[in-house]
Amino acid sequence: MNFFVQNQKEKESYIVLDEYRKEILDAIEKTKMATLFTFSISNFKRLAIRKGFENTHISIMRVIKEMKKTFHGQAQLYQTDSSEYILLFPKRLVEPIEIGKQIHNLFAKQLSSLVIDIGYAISEQSSNAEQLLNDSYMAMTMNNQSNAFAHGFTEQGKSNFSKQLVIENELEKAINKGELSVVYQPIVSTNDLDFGFEALVRWESGLLGNVPPLDFIHIAEKSGLILDVTTFVVETVLVQLQEHPEIPYINVNLSAALMDNSDWFDGLLEMIHKVYVSEAQRLSFEITEGIMLKEEHHVTIHKLRDLGHAVYIDDFGTGYSSMSYLIDSPFTGLKIDRDFINLLGTQYEPVVKNMISLAQHLNLSVVAEGVETDSQLSSLKEMSCDFIQGYLEAAPLTRLEMNHYLLSKGEPASCS
Ligand code: C2E
Ligand code: MG
Repeated sequence: MNFFVQNQKEKESYIVLDEYRKEILDAIEKTKMATLFTFSISNFKRLAIRKGFENTHISIMRVIKEMKKTFHGQAQLYQTDSSEYILLFPKRLVEPIEIGKQIHNLFAKQLSSLVIDIGYAISEQSSNAEQLLNDSYMAMTMNNQSNAFAHGFTEQGKSNFSKQLVIENELEKAINKGELSVVYQPIVSTNDLDFGFEALVRWESGLLGNVPPLDFIHIAEKSGLILDVTTFVVETVLVQLQEHPEIPYINVNLSAALMDNSDWFDGLLEMIHKVYVSEAQRLSFEITEGIMLKEEHHVTIHKLRDLGHAVYIDDFGTGYSSMSYLIDSPFTGLKIDRDFINLLGTQYEPVVKNMISLAQHLNLSVVAEGVETDSQLSSLKEMSCDFIQGYLEAAPLTRLEMNHYLLSKGEPASCS
């Protein structure tokens, strides 16, 4: 078996891809029973810029060589472009995820910061060779939030993927159609003296009805639409701050992945500070812990702080924070995730107490999220937690409701 077919004509990739496609389809047609993996290094360009094209290329070639040894006699490998591969097993594998793990580990051994998407399809599930190839590509591309090493094609996955595509298509139009809006949830100090708000996006889609942020933010992140969503939220919040000088601050949620796009991010900061000179510093940010913060992100957080913005770690406790991460970055504070607040009154209550005292030792202010009951509030007061947010104080408010809330609050004693 000709195990390793390497693409020698990268410059003529258009023609070469077609040639390979035919070869792959012929091979699948011949084998009939097949398991087809497609995998792609999704941060290849980024790696090449950071580590140098030559170095990245050499490391990848090493992986390919190693892969050749590992699957020798079992499978055929095709390279369809500089960062995309196909691995064809002429049988139905019982444990395809194990192969996914092996592929993943082979790459990870050479390039630790590499992000690789692996999909597979098994011939039994597909009607023909073209279908098998498409299914495997779809499994690779699917917006899959699971941590599995490889994503297999399933009809359910296909239907989820189609739903996600509909969301993506509709979201693209939503901003221009005026379907997005912003609501504001109060954050209040436990001594009742200070308050501010968190801005939360809402989407009332003409086609899909009300779509909760948890159903579309991750799609917006994956598709790049998060740039438009965030710009919309930031501008809406700045106008709100302009109309209400009595609002001390409003936090906007920032997906950490946005900080990778430094041109866009710098452009956003320039707009904020040129157009909204008087309001800019009352705009704060919450960065979710969902992805590991990288060195470049610390630079951005420093930049935000230097420009006078408060920056919080959101959903603290659910992500990747480490001590060094907390010490190295000049965060203003952290927001303890609702899941931990729900531990109050149970045997695990000391966990929350320790989180609060850790923050205090590091000079970080603490916001408890999702506070719903008086007894949670009194426990948090006893633990000297600085701020709370949750239905006990108020649910997220529309602009009109926020006006009433502001009237009920009167002038805040101080701005944080
Ligand atoms: P988050 O930033 O942790 O926001 C808090 C979420 O908890 C909000 O959900 C809020 O409505 C809900 N919540 C507040 N108090 C309570 C409570 O007492 N009990 C319960 N059960 N829930 C409470 P929402 O609005 O559905 O937002 C979900 C997540 O979506 C947010 O979590 C945030 O990560 C993301 N998100 C929302 N708006 C934006 C945005 O403009 N940009 C980005 N990047 N993410 C956003
Ligand atoms: Mg938040």
